Amino acid sequence: MAAADYRGRFAPSPTGPLHFGSLVAAFGSWLMARRADGEWWVRIEDLDPPREVPGAADAQLRTLAGFGLVSDAPAVRQSERHARYRAALDRLLANGRAFPCHCSRSDLAAAKGIHRTCRDHRSRTEAAVRLRVEDGSVVTFVDALHGRVTQDVAADVGDVVLLRADGFWAYQLAVVVDDAEQGITHVVRGADLLDSTPRQILLQRALALPTPAYMHLPLIVDPHGAKLSKSMAALPVDGDDPLPALRLAWRALGQDRDRLGPGGVERTLSRAVREFDPSLIPRKPIGFAALHNGSTIRDA
Ligand code: GLU
Repeated sequence: MAAADYRGRFAPSPTGPLHFGSLVAAFGSWLMARRADGEWWVRIEDLDPPREVPGAADAQLRTLAGFGLVSDAPAVRQSERHARYRAALDRLLANGRAFPCHCSRSDLAAAKGIHRTCRDHRSRTEAAVRLRVEDGSVVTFVDALHGRVTQDVAADVGDVVLLRADGFWAYQLAVVVDDAEQGITHVVRGADLLDSTPRQILLQRALALPTPAYMHLPLIVDPHGAKLSKSMAALPVDGDDPLPALRLAWRALGQDRDRLGPGGVERTLSRAVREFDPSLIPRKPIGFAALHNGSTIRDA
């Protein structure tokens, strides 16, 4: 596939209808791509069947379309890409960067779940496969919103699960393989994934893959400061009545509500691309209530 100067993406997991927090990530990643005159691709991250809701992926795509947010390439589904994850895992196993692990959750409980050495050498049938993270694996990257971010992956995360003991691919492996294979140059997503980025960068290095640019958008939180639960029934956004949620998402991105002007979705989106100012995006989590009652959401 042809390389792009800017290719962004939105990668929802089909665990339910598209909710407001996801809309902010979708709109923010779309705006960043469009203002750079770049491409925007949607990828369905359906690798965790126990958490998935039948029909949710199609419903999410329909809702996005109602918001005028349509992938520039046919939406790819991770469930159709097992062979690619297998090939990446085999490379890591062959060069000794990955190893099978039989440790159970309780084996790692004393270490707060952080795996540094295997504690259970009994061969169980269900083995996970982990990336070996050498001591001192400190990763630093520059996030477009948060600046320099540093994490000691060995100490804070430990050896990263790539294939789960239940046989499902871990998100960390799939996202790294797909971002590289799809030629994604810019990852714009929710700040809940900020602390996954260093381990994804380690994995990119282990697989000799390029590292995209990263921007982690503010989370939308409830009055107690907790991430809005994807299951909160009140929050799915309505693709048949997109303008109120689109305007709210615009405000969640720190933008001035008056700059969008009147009009339907198409006009609102093209206006949004012209008026969008990434330097206004807040770094702190945003209270959903504050967005509604009109108080300021800037953290500067
Ligand atoms: N599929 C992830 C989610 O819905 C997002 C992954 C990503 O953007 O890297 O939370």
